[in-house]
Amino acid sequence: MYSKVYSAIAYGLSAQLVSIEVDIISSQLPGFSIVGLPDKSVQESKDRVISAIKNSGFDFPRKKIVINLAPADKLKVGAFYDLPIAISILKATNQIDTLIDLDKLIFLGELSLDGTLRATDGVLPISLHLRELGDFDGIVLPYDSANEAAIVKTHNVYGFKHIKDLIEAINSNELNNYKHIYREDEEEQNYQYLFEHIVGQEEMKRACLIGVAGNHNMLFVGSPGAGKTMVAKCIPSILPEMSEDEMIEVTKIYSSAGLLENKSLIKKRPFRSPHHTSSVVSIIGGGRIPRPGELTLAHRGVLFFDELTEFPVSAIEALRQPLEDRCVTISRVNATFKFPANFIFVGAMNPCKCGWYGDAERQCTCSSVEIERHRKKISGPIMDRIDLQVWVRRVPTQTIASSQNNINTKYTSANMLDTVRRVRKMQLERYNKENFTTNSEIPSSKVDKYCKMNDDAKSILLNFMNKNNLSMRSYFKILKVALTINMIENRGEVINKESVLEAIKYRITI
Ligand SMILES: [Zn+2]
Repeated sequence: MYSKVYSAIAYGLSAQLVSIEVDIISSQLPGFSIVGLPDKSVQESKDRVISAIKNSGFDFPRKKIVINLAPADKLKVGAFYDLPIAISILKATNQIDTLIDLDKLIFLGELSLDGTLRATDGVLPISLHLRELGDFDGIVLPYDSANEAAIVKTHNVYGFKHIKDLIEAINSNELNNYKHIYREDEEEQNYQYLFEHIVGQEEMKRACLIGVAGNHNMLFVGSPGAGKTMVAKCIPSILPEMSEDEMIEVTKIYSSAGLLENKSLIKKRPFRSPHHTSSVVSIIGGGRIPRPGELTLAHRGVLFFDELTEFPVSAIEALRQPLEDRCVTISRVNATFKFPANFIFVGAMNPCKCGWYGDAERQCTCSSVEIERHRKKISGPIMDRIDLQVWVRRVPTQTIASSQNNINTKYTSANMLDTVRRVRKMQLERYNKENFTTNSEIPSSKVDKYCKMNDDAKSILLNFMNKNNLSMRSYFKILKVALTINMIENRGEVINKESVLEAIKYRITI
């Protein structure tokens, strides 16, 4: 007795169809084997499937059962296959009798011993893959995962709490009663940190505005208590809205990382702030079938490294590729995984080991060797990739005291967000025929086309380059920042002197 049902496997951020074949052989001694490159977690399906079938009132055949997961060259992990294995056994033993064409459905889900279906991670990449394939009518899965699958509206999603309900619905041709309609989750709209609540620090706020408007990376260097962390935490309040495609892209990443708590579309751009004690794998991503790390979880949003110099050098250096190519590559024996990592990087650090170098009120106690060693933690290539570098001074205590209860009106989150929206729209229109959307992403080959300067601006920039012996990469970075400033100030198509002078200000040599 043979039968086959379809399931799927999430593989990195993509998915692949898996067919589950069952053969029940009467002439051999009873037994149960799974072949087709299953790992240990899939082997454990056997016990769950046997108990779930028996405890749901169905018969489990006392015969030799062979399950084959195809294609056999891809490693299968997780408890995804419990449900399709159970369905194919029930089908092969004629316990399913229906007019519904089961070959048009994908089954996936973990079973508990009593037959209850449990939510599984990574459902959205599978649902998106189904949309690409187009040959299937729908997907059958645990009720708690149904909303996530239903984000994609091109096919039906059927959610079940118990395998018994599912078999009854199939046998009575009433699957449609379990069709899941996508439910939007109400996202919290208020932000905890707003720019108007921060006293002073206009330069840091201005840098945040430029950085977010043009998608530029930022670094704040300054003594403890200067407000670096507070300012960084205000950034989410000025991030522009995502497009529908970007929302799906971000949600897919969280789905495959098992971090999609609300099981619905993520609408806000992510703000990730891993601690400096986080493992390098959790930052880059990893695992046998790699899962995305912090660099990818920050995709389309912000990655904030507070206390940057406290991070292990390997974690800081891991930023090099994503800051350049906007993706992370993880190699495994059989395959190479490429995860997107297009984020705004924001770093905050003390200027020296004791933290008080350059402070107006306190004396730095570090030796010049210690200062040197502290700064060397951020290598030249990493510094080169940070467009906006701001030296932050502490706001004098008197100023803080006198401006308490006064709301700063020059930089409020609301008017900064208005500017960001306007400047982002200009960029979308300007680059609508390109494969990038923001100023910071302009490739070197197109800098001449998109970053035109007037003569005054050009001579100032060349002079600065020669004086400081800066790399070509730095030259391009300054130019792109100047372009964003030009757009913020509505200075027209050609970058002028003022924009270049301001962009140069954000290159501190630490
Ligand atoms: Zn010091």
